[in-house]
Amino acid sequence: MNRRDFLKLLALLAVSTYLGSSTSTKKDRIVIVGAGIVGSALGYELAKAGANVTLIDKAQPGSQASTNSFSWINATYPKQPYAYNFFSQLGIDAYKSLAPELNFQIKWSGSLEWFANKQIETDSFKQLANIMRYKQYTPVEVISASDANQLEPKVIFKKNTKVIFSKSDGAIDALDAIHKLTNQIKQYGGKIIYPCEYLSSNYKNGKLLSIKTNQGEIEADKVIFTSGIDTNALTGKSFLKEATPGIILKSKPTKDAMNRMLIGPGIHVHQQNNGVVVIGEQTGAPPTHKERLKQKPNKFPEIIGKQHGERLLQQTNLLFQEKLNLDLDQISIGWRPLPKDGLPIIGWLPNRPNSYIATMHSGVSLAAIVAKVASQEILDGVSSTLLKEFRPSRFF
Ligand SMILES: Cc1cc2nc3c(=O)[nH]c(=O)nc-3n(C[C@H](O)[C@H](O)[C@H](O)COP(=O)(O)OP(=O)(O)OC[C@H]3O[C@@H](n4cnc5c(N)ncnc54)[C@H](O)[C@@H]3O)c2cc1C
Repeated sequence: MNRRDFLKLLALLAVSTYLGSSTSTKKDRIVIVGAGIVGSALGYELAKAGANVTLIDKAQPGSQASTNSFSWINATYPKQPYAYNFFSQLGIDAYKSLAPELNFQIKWSGSLEWFANKQIETDSFKQLANIMRYKQYTPVEVISASDANQLEPKVIFKKNTKVIFSKSDGAIDALDAIHKLTNQIKQYGGKIIYPCEYLSSNYKNGKLLSIKTNQGEIEADKVIFTSGIDTNALTGKSFLKEATPGIILKSKPTKDAMNRMLIGPGIHVHQQNNGVVVIGEQTGAPPTHKERLKQKPNKFPEIIGKQHGERLLQQTNLLFQEKLNLDLDQISIGWRPLPKDGLPIIGWLPNRPNSYIATMHSGVSLAAIVAKVASQEILDGVSSTLLKEFRPSRFF
């Protein structure tokens, strides 16, 4: 879809039913709680439209899930039901529209995915067929091992392996994107405040007056929670299940390690435009580590981090014909915000006036589209049919 068609479609899908909050004036004071990729992208769209934006973060922009993510932008077959898949497809279009505005570093190389065993392969192909029943899905092809090798000569694809080639996937440098978004918010006259922790909202006669933070009170006409794994605690509602950890490893920049995103058994790997190789592990933490992980740390104790790093580098090398010789630069633990039913949660909160929420897994894939659609809802008082399936009201 080209940029003009994409923007037209968004306008069409916004219908002007009232959605639980008064329409804003452009100078309403909007405070966004959480400067991950979702809050930063939303703050950018709101500030660009002329709103008075303050974006706060209890630590610093990009300190949580967004930076410790594999950063794969996709609308692949596990994104079901179809409403979610379609929204994710628009997510790709939204990035294509947004990226040139801010010079985002996105590598649109597509992904190759293959499986540990026949059972997983069969189940995945069933899910793929389910999505391909619809008229519109992201360009995808199932290719043979030898065709996959043409695309990715350094990788080992065993004979008879079937590979899903998802052609429109991309990988973004999420921290770089957050820095560009937050800088631009400031250019538009918005404020970015951190460390600044949201504590509570202050209402009078059902009207939001301000929010209380550990840095003092901030006057607000609207508050938006883009607070990732802290969403339950901040809204007093159980939207998310227990966050699960994932290890992300980044190498120092290296030359031409691979062309595409590789979604291999147990390991995901891609190379950013700047040469950094990003590796994500898919098997969660063993139960014996539960105690250490209780506080949801983003870092390992040094020795454990080193051990994990070496183990993951070895595992990654098994995908390749020749060892990659990567220099480990960074290893971190990311915590996934996981809505209880797997679907994004976006919209006005039914139990709190002028309070909006946007939280989801795959927030990196969806940040650009969420920002475009939610900013329309917040500023213009419209209700987008695109978000019909994702309303917070389903939890009440
Ligand atoms: C290992 C791993 C791999 C992943 N891979 C992918 C992928 O490939 N593709 C994809 O689309 N998604 C992926 N995800 C999911 C994705 O990273 C998240 O969905 C996304 O980053 C969520 O963005 P966010 O802005 O909502 O949250 P976050 O980035 O977590 O930002 C929330 C912010 O809110 C702040 N905050 C919290 N409480 C308060 C408070 N009281 N006051 C002020 N600020 C507060 C936090 O400090 C934080 O900065 C992955 C996640 C993990 C962990």
